[in-house]
Amino acid sequence: MPTATNPRNAPVIHRARANSIHIILGLDSPIARNRARTGNRLQTPLTDCVKTPLYFDYHATTPVDRRVLEAMLPYFTQHFGNAASRSHCYGWTAEKAVERARACIAGLVGAAPREIVFTSGATESNNLALKGAVEACRSRGNHVVTMATEHRAVLDPIRHLQRIGVKATVLAPRPDGLIDLEEFRRAIRPETVLVSMMYANNEIGVIQPVREIGEICREMGVLFHTDAAQAFGKVAIDVADCPAGLMSFTAHKIYGPKGVGALYVRARTPLAQQIDGGGHEGGLRSGTLNVPGIVGFGEAAAICAAEMETETARIGRLRDHLYARLEESLEGVRVNGSLEHRLAGNLNLSFAGVDADALLTMLPDIALSTGSACSSASPEPSHVLRALGLTAQEARSSVRFGLGRFTTEEEVDYVARRVAEAVGKLRKAAPARALSPAARTT
Ligand code: PLP
Repeated sequence: MPTATNPRNAPVIHRARANSIHIILGLDSPIARNRARTGNRLQTPLTDCVKTPLYFDYHATTPVDRRVLEAMLPYFTQHFGNAASRSHCYGWTAEKAVERARACIAGLVGAAPREIVFTSGATESNNLALKGAVEACRSRGNHVVTMATEHRAVLDPIRHLQRIGVKATVLAPRPDGLIDLEEFRRAIRPETVLVSMMYANNEIGVIQPVREIGEICREMGVLFHTDAAQAFGKVAIDVADCPAGLMSFTAHKIYGPKGVGALYVRARTPLAQQIDGGGHEGGLRSGTLNVPGIVGFGEAAAICAAEMETETARIGRLRDHLYARLEESLEGVRVNGSLEHRLAGNLNLSFAGVDADALLTMLPDIALSTGSACSSASPEPSHVLRALGLTAQEARSSVRFGLGRFTTEEEVDYVARRVAEAVGKLRKAAPARALSPAARTT
């Protein structure tokens, strides 16, 4: 029975406990042995790793790449200086490392380094973009346009803005998850100051036509923000080609550390700072910089720049293989969202008549999810799938498969087999509901 050593840099847990997890999950496998033999030379030796479920949740987060970790480590100890210290070499070394990372991150999207503002992650970047732009443009209008499938890190700041009197239009996507550009154009009013539309969706992986959206915004004289947390490092982005004034990024979706992100702020974009303090980051985001985190973010971006093309092709092939395997072994499998305009590592499927939570319970050996990690505490079905027009029951029968840098074909085959078996068992146990459209509720 196959499994893997989990994400490369898992903490070491006492061997006895690791073994018991191993036994509980029945995780002894050719894959694990194969990995030990061929080994990713970047990872911890197999004997030091905990045997944990196969990781198929790369949209929630990614393991830190060993190369990233190695780049970060000296900045915790030897080079621990505050990047704002101007009077000694500790500060200069830290500042130099921050500027190197800034250049890598800017380079990945064709921006100038001075257009990158470091933050604690995409949630903060989105808050700064949305609240900061609306505040800076208040004299020009008080209307924003966004989409119903946005991450909560956009929808919640917009709700906050609504509470203080800003008007918002929240557009539903087409059934394939893409924005209807004509409807979008019609939603822009003379008092619209900001449009926020995500680059790639975290649940269904659908990639929006951001260039066209940005061009409409430019034509109408409206500032455009895009949450690129899931797209950055995975699809080729060029700010020269995409007229966004503001773009949010985060490190932990690209094999960098958690708690560090950035906001791209195009030169001369109106933006009011939301955190006051020492005037760091050109006054747009005060607070001592997280130097090791920023160094890791820069290294992660540099790796993406070098490897994105081959990595995307490889992951896309694995994703298509997973879909083909599931489709050939099961009926009633539906892809949610456009398969064509989609992140390579994403597959979001509905299994007719199956409760996705029950399915995940039957698969303790695979780390999967039914939607956004940020909404996983909510009993409500995914707002993204509901916005696509799925019924509550269809949304509750959906699973997000997230593939990434360390996913292998053997793992994909294993997951396809295990999921097909589990879906079959659940349908056998509740045949009346299986595949029956009559069982749908809203
Ligand atoms: N936006 C999107 C599309 C995301 O997927 C996420 C992460 O889940 C975020 C924002 C929040 O990012 P962070 O965890 O860096 O705050």
